[in-house]
Amino acid sequence: MNTTNPSALADTDAQSADLVQFADEPADFESGPLVAPWIVLMVDDDPDVHSATLHSMQGICICGRPLHFLHAYSAIQARRFVAEQEDIAVIMLDVVMETEDAGLKLVDQIRGEFGRSIVQIILRTGQPGFAPEIETIRQYEINDYRTKTELTQVRLYTSLSGAIRTYHHLHSMAETRRGLEVIVHASNELSRAHGLQKFSKGLITQLCALLQIKPDGIVCAKVESQWEGEATIIVATGIHAPLVGQSVKQLEGSSMGSVMQKCLSYRANVFDGCTALYFPATNGQALVAFVDAMPLKEIDRQLIQTFCSSMTVGLENILLHERMFSLAYKDQLLGVANRNRFLELLQARISGSPGISLAVIDLDDFAGDIAMFGHAFGDELLKAFVTRLTDQVGPDVDLGRISGDTFALVGKDEFVNPQALAGCTSALLKVQNQMVTVSATCGLVRLDAGNSDGAEVLKQAHVALKLAKSQYRGASVYYNDEMGTDAAERSALLRRLREAFEAHRLFVVYQPQVRLVDGTTIGAEALLRWRSEEGVYVPPDQFIPVAEQSGLMISIGEFVLRSACHQLKKLNEAGYVDFRMSVNVSQAQFREPGFVQTVKRALVDSGVSAFNLELEITESMAAEDLDFVLSVLHELKRTGVTIAIDDFGTGYSSLSILGRLPLDRLKIDKSFVDYLGVAEGVAKSIIDIGRSLKLQLIAEGVEKAEQAAELYALGCQEGQGYFYASPMPPDDLQHWLTSR
Ligand code: C2E
Ligand code: MG
Ligand code: MG
Repeated sequence: MNTTNPSALADTDAQSADLVQFADEPADFESGPLVAPWIVLMVDDDPDVHSATLHSMQGICICGRPLHFLHAYSAIQARRFVAEQEDIAVIMLDVVMETEDAGLKLVDQIRGEFGRSIVQIILRTGQPGFAPEIETIRQYEINDYRTKTELTQVRLYTSLSGAIRTYHHLHSMAETRRGLEVIVHASNELSRAHGLQKFSKGLITQLCALLQIKPDGIVCAKVESQWEGEATIIVATGIHAPLVGQSVKQLEGSSMGSVMQKCLSYRANVFDGCTALYFPATNGQALVAFVDAMPLKEIDRQLIQTFCSSMTVGLENILLHERMFSLAYKDQLLGVANRNRFLELLQARISGSPGISLAVIDLDDFAGDIAMFGHAFGDELLKAFVTRLTDQVGPDVDLGRISGDTFALVGKDEFVNPQALAGCTSALLKVQNQMVTVSATCGLVRLDAGNSDGAEVLKQAHVALKLAKSQYRGASVYYNDEMGTDAAERSALLRRLREAFEAHRLFVVYQPQVRLVDGTTIGAEALLRWRSEEGVYVPPDQFIPVAEQSGLMISIGEFVLRSACHQLKKLNEAGYVDFRMSVNVSQAQFREPGFVQTVKRALVDSGVSAFNLELEITESMAAEDLDFVLSVLHELKRTGVTIAIDDFGTGYSSLSILGRLPLDRLKIDKSFVDYLGVAEGVAKSIIDIGRSLKLQLIAEGVEKAEQAAELYALGCQEGQGYFYASPMPPDDLQHWLTSR
């Protein structure tokens, strides 16, 4: 039944004009067997009223939908209908039934107890005298009031259709509001979701809530790029759950596949038998959701548009969050966990099962490889090495890049151990189509009940790595507690040193150097001193290596250099014009790119002659990276300063290398001086080497007159040591010089 037949009514009623309006209105609902009727509850204790109403409304459609009547003959019966039937559109209600106001009381219950605010209530009463007051109509939210005699067919139709239209309007509004509430709720819910997976799952739940269907038959697919177009199903629920991981292409042939494909190519929502929704995002990424729901009511379609726009904003946020996560936690070159992420993975392992080890692996000579073959090669080498590591330790081990060429692994001991790591470097690696050897050194820590802090364990692995690097390059070393104490002590020492330096508690002392032949003073060596707040002297041999490792030695070294130059200036001014000031230069200072400039600045600022400044470097410094050392030394020499090799004889530099360096002097180490009188030959051979290199010689640690005499006899010209003078503060040096 889908058409209204107004002409039939017009014949029977004089007020046919009323009806024409209704008749001409197009039905705004699709007709057909699916169209649900309007439910009208008729409440009257008079059975004749029921039959008369039913008779006159026979075959009537309102807004394209037929009417379905429920009949109640008392207020109690009506109450039951109201409780059971949610979608009653109109209640036609008699006032006087069991009691004089049974009808009015029922209205009260419908509005109050049942909370039915949109159902339309038409009150009917037998006699005009029983008409409710205006106040009552307002109080009970009665929508219409008619006396029974007024109810001609046309009047009834007019009254009923007006009520149904009002109900329809209010119902749509309520539906929209509910839908919008779902959407707002969805946005709130999904804004808390982390990760695309969770977001997609939530999207399904919320969409189903909106459409009021089971969360079934919905598939989310992520497209990486619209142009490359390979959409993969990332979440599927209900009967479609097994589809996760497949591509949309693989669904070809099914109605689901075709509607999703259409959605992807149109980049728009498609309602074609079933529904596919399109959620676009930046960079050509998109999400497609498939719903097995059709046909959709107009109101649902409108809500879906709103839902899509709202969710698209959410999707953007999620993808942005993913991108940020990737930037914050992933190494952008190698795609593995970065340091921060690895620390989290490590922390999770610490609180997990026992039998876990951590390894920190550092490539040997990686900087050299880059210098030789370039950065692109370095990147490829790292990629190849990560692949090798992953293959070697398997999928159950977490891998991260800790810094440039340092990686970390955490996993079961059976996968993370020295043998496995040795396996990573045993075969050649293919890098840029060449086969290269790779060497790596590794520090390992066994995680046990004692460990609780990931960062702390990582530090321990670094301690073991450092030791391995210095003594067992290319091999693995397990951490033990003694190493840890050393490291902790060193870091405490460094902290105190930094404080002392900043509080100007470091100072320089000077140890005279003399001509062996007659004991005349020719210069002095500047030596650094640190007296702690408690007044204890900390030997430079102890704190300088620590300062060296941290880089603090660069600033401290500059301070010594400048102090020595100013002291030299004072001595010059006091008449010691040919005085030679020796200053020790540490490895960190020497390698610092601005070192030569620092020296020049110290000379200019103090106004001393470069010819009076000597820099002491050690043999070991010369042994590494000869080209670099040569270039710095030549540059230094051009300023006019002289260069001495300190602690000569204790290093391993070959004569051929020493021969190439622009040196002026060798400082024969105290240990050889000590041999004098015990094993003459050792000291002699060292002196002979110096002579063969045609360099000046100075001996350090001369404590006795015999040593001085013997050194002179062997061909050494100069000396320094307690026999002549101990290192002393500047003022003492001045007194010492004048007293001689
Ligand atoms: P070094 O440069 O070989 O300095 C000589 C060391 O031998 C000094 O120790 C000095 O006090 C000590 N010495 C001098 N004569 C005798 C002697 O007759 N007998 C004995 N037993 N020792 C003597 P110090 O001052 O403790 O310095 C130790 C090392 O610390 C220095 O060895 C040097 O390598 C380093 N150092 C000291 N000051 C500085 C500095 O300002 N910069 C750098 N880079 N290193 C420094
Ligand atoms: Mg020295
Ligand atoms: Mg020395």
